[in-house]
Amino acid sequence: MTNFDRTHIWHPYTSITNPLPTYPVKSASGSRLTLEDGTELIDGMSSWWCAIHGYNHPVLNAAAETQLGKMSHVMFGGLTHEPAIRLARQLVELTPDPLQYIFFSDSGSVSVDVALKMALQFWHNQGRPEKHRMLTVYGGYHGDTFGAMSVCDPITGMHKLFSGAVNKHLFAPRPEPQFGSTLTATDLEPIQQLLETHNNEIAAMILEPIVQGAGGMWFYSAEYLNAVAQLCKKYDVLLILDEIATGFGRTGKLFASEHAGITPDIMCLGKALTGGYMSLAATLCNERVRDGISANDGILMHGPTFMANPLACNIASASIDLLLKSDWQQKVATIEQQLTHELGKYCSHDAVADIRVLGAIGVVELHKQIDIAEAQKAFVAAGVWIRPFGKLAYLMPPYTINTTDLSKLTSAIGLILE
Ligand SMILES: *Cc1c(COP(=O)(O)O)cnc(C)c1O
Repeated sequence: MTNFDRTHIWHPYTSITNPLPTYPVKSASGSRLTLEDGTELIDGMSSWWCAIHGYNHPVLNAAAETQLGKMSHVMFGGLTHEPAIRLARQLVELTPDPLQYIFFSDSGSVSVDVALKMALQFWHNQGRPEKHRMLTVYGGYHGDTFGAMSVCDPITGMHKLFSGAVNKHLFAPRPEPQFGSTLTATDLEPIQQLLETHNNEIAAMILEPIVQGAGGMWFYSAEYLNAVAQLCKKYDVLLILDEIATGFGRTGKLFASEHAGITPDIMCLGKALTGGYMSLAATLCNERVRDGISANDGILMHGPTFMANPLACNIASASIDLLLKSDWQQKVATIEQQLTHELGKYCSHDAVADIRVLGAIGVVELHKQIDIAEAQKAFVAAGVWIRPFGKLAYLMPPYTINTTDLSKLTSAIGLILE
């Protein structure tokens, strides 16, 4: 079985002829993955930010089964359905007030592409097609499609590999002031400069609010985010916040933008939207963006085949209800405390460059690159599932994890320091 996997299937960002080892999973339940050979692993990844309630959850299973008996999919062109309408209402209710209009798509990257299209169509329709570039910061990650990739960090985002095919946008330095710190006068200068010089060609600024995820697990100052939002207003540039990783409580707020008390013009959601059950994403916008796109009979030019998939929408609705009914804030706060305490012990270790904790995210940054295959082997032997990248070993467990399991995860990180 694994041999065919090795010889025929690409895994994320890997060679198919010289693949890294993969571990066959048989099932998953709660915060445990069970491998084909019976090994149980405690999950420290929530399958890349998604499985916030843990796996195989009875409520989400029921939502899937109920919807399966009705219809698993119908086209969204010319048809509509209750699961999509109910989910849209919930998202409009949950997100900041001005975000009222919604476009459903099938993955985070596509929801970012849709956000970029919204911004471009908005200005085009105002008779300002010259406002067609994006402004963002280094260290960002917004997905792997061409639109999304063009606003990812140019180095980790593989711009060289695809140069010529990826649009050239504008990049300010990575937001330096860390979460919890205050701004100094110079922190905003580069962005202010870029906006001052280029505002006539910039359609939108796109950012991951507070947490830069796959681009480096960096937590930056809420004051910085707030100030950037003010600058966007001043220079009449739309603000797109990519809450795909941060949405649904991961940072201790329902949406990370709440830390800064700001509302974007356009917001992207994905990942934990279905509690990790299915691929689904959404792009929301405010009235100004809606009206701009819609003027002169404007239509939004996007329409994926699996748009607003009813099965995914029904599970997403159930996942949101489940989250709101739970004491998620308390759970995330408890995880935050435990991560701070237990990962904090490593801060004096020679191999460790930095420890960062925010909400249910704990990051240990080493001085050296981590050998993923080696580390993975050690983690699996220790009974945990943690997947490092670059110099970073990090944890973002399901919110439902218990303290004993979380301790096993934090202890396991100690293994790769040796
Ligand atoms: C994962 C991620 C994406 C891309 O989502 P996919 O579902 O993988 O396409 C976009 N933005 C952020 C911030 C992400 O973490």
